[in-house]
Amino acid sequence: MEWCVSLPKVELHAHLNGSIRDSTLLELARVLGEKGVIVFSDVEHVILKNDRSLTEVFKLFDLIHILTTDHTTVKRITQEVIEDFASENVVYLELRTTPKRNDSIGMTKRSYMEAVMEGLRAVSPVDVAFAPHNDDAGSLRESLPINDAGDGKRKKIYVRLLLSIDRRESTAAAMETVKLALEMRDLGVIGIDLSGNPVVGEWMTYLPALEFAREHGLYVTLHCGEVPNPKEIQAMLDFIPQRVGHACYFEEDDWKKLKHYNIPVEICLTSNVVTASVSSLDVHHFADLYNAKHPIVLCTDDAGVFSTSLSNEYKVAASAFGLGKREMFQLAKDAIEFTFADDGVKQDLRNIFDLATKKLD
Ligand code: 5GP
Repeated sequence: MEWCVSLPKVELHAHLNGSIRDSTLLELARVLGEKGVIVFSDVEHVILKNDRSLTEVFKLFDLIHILTTDHTTVKRITQEVIEDFASENVVYLELRTTPKRNDSIGMTKRSYMEAVMEGLRAVSPVDVAFAPHNDDAGSLRESLPINDAGDGKRKKIYVRLLLSIDRRESTAAAMETVKLALEMRDLGVIGIDLSGNPVVGEWMTYLPALEFAREHGLYVTLHCGEVPNPKEIQAMLDFIPQRVGHACYFEEDDWKKLKHYNIPVEICLTSNVVTASVSSLDVHHFADLYNAKHPIVLCTDDAGVFSTSLSNEYKVAASAFGLGKREMFQLAKDAIEFTFADDGVKQDLRNIFDLATKKLD
């Protein structure tokens, strides 16, 4: 495990509200319990439970959102999530979150995202490079060499943001999110994700907003094939997103199309097994895709909800699929090419990995 922690890593599929520390969720629940908003004893076991079906996961998210959807908490969880990823040597993180409205406290999708930005700025143990063009500390931070606490230099983590469209949203609400993403490009927003309960909503509802995003140069990644839905999977692949997440219920034609378009897959091993989207690691599609040299990247999905970490996902993959250190290192490094980062950042990341090669042997 130690080796997997010291390995530099790239995280491309992490939901903000799924990556919260249990201790923070319990603390927030206790406070709301004292205010009489919730009954703490009812939610404590839900937060600490380890096995969750996909349906239970989405019920849990409804609870988490009650606990977190105010500006102060959004800032706090963003800060903590970045610190947690940086502490396990994630050097580049694409963090995704669904911009939310909460009329009762005057929260708009924009002010939600501004709270996220404040959280990024509040991180202090590591340098966060999140907006190369106008982050006030950006020019200094961008010039810092590499993620390496060992030689007295501060660690650095690159963070880019993806705004998620929740499948419960209307076309208009999805479009609002895409427009917000476009307005916040200078602040490190680089793409759009489609997520939320896969049994809810219709592909055609989101398509206009996703097409608009693409026309305006935003990257798009889709949660695809989390439940058996052959028509939707085909329609999603025909859209040719820049990446897809999960791909658990693909059939032969879907694999053919995915491979034809060479669409990278964000693989979330623990999440897939815990939610029973894949019955066990022995039959997980990681092995086939890896052997076919199809682009894949290991990700956490929801490190808090599924009690995992990116280092743990690497450890799980190494033991389940019999991969050695060299293969794991290459897998981690290859992920750079599937990021939505610009060429300068990608080159910096390659340098980080090249330097790390010497230390990890
Ligand atoms: P948030 O966007 O609120 O920061 O993160 C939580 C949200 O991400 C959930 O409400 C849900 O919409 C989405 N999400 C998190 N994990 C999953 C997952 O495994 N599958 C899907 N489809 N959506 C997810």
